[in-house]
Amino acid sequence: MKVVMLGAPGAGKGTQAKKMAERWQIPHISTGDIFRANIKAGTELGAKAKEYMDQGLLVPDELVVDLVVDRLQQEDCKDGYILDGFPRTIPQAEALDAALEKVNDKLDKAINIDVPDENIINRMSGRRACVQCGATYHITYNPTKVEGKCDACNADLILRDDDKPETVKKRLGVYHEQTQPLIDYYAGKGILSNIDGTIGMDEVFHSIEKVLGA
Ligand code: ADP
Ligand code: ADP
Ligand code: ZN
Repeated sequence: MKVVMLGAPGAGKGTQAKKMAERWQIPHISTGDIFRANIKAGTELGAKAKEYMDQGLLVPDELVVDLVVDRLQQEDCKDGYILDGFPRTIPQAEALDAALEKVNDKLDKAINIDVPDENIINRMSGRRACVQCGATYHITYNPTKVEGKCDACNADLILRDDDKPETVKKRLGVYHEQTQPLIDYYAGKGILSNIDGTIGMDEVFHSIEKVLGA
C-alpha cells in the first residue's frame, strides 16, 4: 500500500502515519524528520534546509525530490510506504508520479486530514517533539507519562522553533498557496479521501482504516 498524507501543518499527519506504519508494517517516511535529522547531524543538506525551515518556507523542490525518490527505492519500501510531508508542491507530486511510472508503479491513496486554521495554532503551540526519535506529543491532547520526556525513548521533548505562533501563521499561508492544490490534483486522479481531523486521534485512525479498507 502506497499512501500520501495531506493536510495543513499540525493536522495530525505524523501522528496518524506513525500508527499506520505500525499497523501495516510499512515505513513512515517524513521529509520533515529527514531534514531535522540532517540538521542534527550537521550535514550540508541540513544546513541548506534549515535556512528555509526557520523562516516557515518550503525547502526548494530540487533538494527534496531526489532524496525521496532514492528513499523509495530501498528494499523496505517494496510492499508500500506512508509519505508524510511529501509531496508539498505540484512539481513534487508530478516528479513522484513520473518516478513511479518509470517502474510501472503508482500511488494507491492520498488521505487528506482536514483541520481548519483556527484549530492549528492551538495544536502547534502544544505540540512537543522528541529530540531523539521524532515522536510527537501534545501537552493536552496526547501528554507523555512523564512530563518533558519521550514515552518511547525517554529523551527530552522540545517545542520546535518553527511551531511558534508567528512561524505557524507563515507556514499556514505557504500551505494554502503551495500544498492545498494537491487536494485537487489527487482528486483528479481519483485516489483522494478526505478525513475529518478535528475528532480524537483514535477516531481519525478509525476513519483511515475504513478508507483503506482494512
Ligand atoms: P509539519 O509536520 O508540521 O507539517 P514537517 O515536519 O513536515 O512539518 O516540515 C517541517 C519543515 O520542513 C517545513 O516547514 C518545510 O520547511 C520543510 N519540509 C518538509 N517537507 C518538505 C517538502 N516536501 N518540501 C519542501 N519543504 C519541506
Ligand atoms: P502534522 O504531522 O500534520 O504536522 P502532528 O501529527 O505532529 O501533525 O500533530 C500536531 C499536534 O497535534 C501534535 O501535538 C499532536 O499530538 C496533536 N494532534 C494530532 N492529532 C490530533 C487530534 N486528532 N486531536 C488533537 N490533537 C491532535
Ligand atoms: Zn523519543
